[in-house]
Amino acid sequence: MTTRDPALDALAALLGESGILLGPADCARYATDVSGERGELPRAVLRPANTQDLSEVMRLCHRHGLPVVPQGGRTGLSGGASCLDGNLVLSLERMTGVIAIDPDALTLVAWAGTPLQTVQEAARERGLEYPVDIGSRSTATIGGTIATNAGGIRVIRHGMTRQNILGLEVVLANGTILSDLNELPKNNAGYDLKQLFIGSEGTLGIVTRAVMKLVPATTHANTALLGLSDYGAALDLLGSARRRFGPQLVAFEGMWPSYWDFVCEEAKLVRPPLSGRHGLYVLLETAHEGASGEEAFEAWLGHCLENELVEDGVIAKSLAETRSIWAVREAVGELDAAFGAHINFDLGIVPSRLGSFIEACDRALAAFVDCRSLHVGHMGDGNLHLIVSTGSRGPQEVHEIENVIYGLVGEWHGTVTAEHGVGTLKRHWLSRCRDESQIAVMTRLKALFDPFGRLNPGKIFE
Ligand SMILES: Cc1cc2nc3c(=O)[nH]c(=O)nc-3n(C[C@H](O)[C@H](O)[C@H](O)COP(=O)(O)OP(=O)(O)OC[C@H]3O[C@@H](n4cnc5c(N)ncnc54)[C@H](O)[C@@H]3O)c2cc1C
Repeated sequence: MTTRDPALDALAALLGESGILLGPADCARYATDVSGERGELPRAVLRPANTQDLSEVMRLCHRHGLPVVPQGGRTGLSGGASCLDGNLVLSLERMTGVIAIDPDALTLVAWAGTPLQTVQEAARERGLEYPVDIGSRSTATIGGTIATNAGGIRVIRHGMTRQNILGLEVVLANGTILSDLNELPKNNAGYDLKQLFIGSEGTLGIVTRAVMKLVPATTHANTALLGLSDYGAALDLLGSARRRFGPQLVAFEGMWPSYWDFVCEEAKLVRPPLSGRHGLYVLLETAHEGASGEEAFEAWLGHCLENELVEDGVIAKSLAETRSIWAVREAVGELDAAFGAHINFDLGIVPSRLGSFIEACDRALAAFVDCRSLHVGHMGDGNLHLIVSTGSRGPQEVHEIENVIYGLVGEWHGTVTAEHGVGTLKRHWLSRCRDESQIAVMTRLKALFDPFGRLNPGKIFE
């Protein structure tokens, strides 16, 4: 295979036929992620099968001045994996599989291209769990979840990806392999370099392998869907659940009527597991040992009902019921076709201020004609997914809506992205939650690791 481009010919010779895609038809699906951000056709898709080949690829790209976009499952929601003009895609799709599980040390080592669900299933077969969990688990990869510091539905108990990684192997822009597959729970020998790469969205290095922390698998879980009068009641309920269950509180998800009515009644994406109308719907999950945990959960919920903290609720009594409760929350992943063009804000606001923040957003959005919004999120973490319809609005008007919402984020001392990352979609708004000195240190770090700007150019920074 020759291309008349010496750099691509060298890459093709290194990777062999199965390791490189060159034709437009083969490359087209690698242009972007699911964020809706426009991506350009990659010049080539590079698919190394191991760390050594990936390192050689980066050496060649370094020598020939080729910019590279690392890609996992392309489920990212911020345009981080989108391809800019002239970029090559570096896909981790052939670097997949669980390498080792140590049930005594509670660790699992996997290739970065392994889907999150594969890791979760491998751990569960050993009675263990990798606690990071997100709706896109079947396609999102370990490398992608590390590069975005993915959050998800169990952050309230287990933290984000950052808290669940012990060691990393990373390839730098010039091909250097930085191997820190640390398995020690305690290791204070100098800087914790892996933390620099976690959440760096493929701009500082390419994750090739990871050591993950496991926990004993949950044997019993209580899942309930509760109807509440308003956000204030939900905050009180969160406080009560935290005091009662401590670290056994696994999930505390909020769904506002705007979202609930749309997915259950208007678009009929799911059947509502709870009847009646409420000011807020909370999906709450706890983990516990044995039947006494179930009784304690029911007793606590009964107490909340008696004290009118909760208006109504259902507790899942089977796996099917648990799934149907979670289906309402996870329907957020199916909104695209039903809701039409929209902006998917991924905002972080301290939970105690989230209710007044939403009211301020609603007031501000009322100034835009026919601008509808849905509210859903990881309420316990103060992470709101505000989904605002844009209809046939052009880029200027969309920008105005973003300006208003991100302006409020700045006033409320929140973040423009709680879990999806900056990518291309939020880079213009970074300064609403990071000051000049923070951005200056970030750009210096970028220059240190990638002085020629070859790794995922155009992401995070404008
Ligand atoms: C239905 C649905 C539900 C979701 N729910 C959540 C959620 O609850 N919480 C959450 O945080 N996210 C969620 N996401 C977003 C997305 O799944 C995560 O951001 C995920 O971590 C992306 O993984 P990926 O493998 O698809 O990465 P990609 O989309 O391929 O890439 C994401 C970023 O990581 C970089 N990257 C990928 N692999 C590597 C690597 N090996 N080394 C270095 N950089 C790399 C890319 O360059 C890009 O910047 C959801 C998405 C969908 C579609």
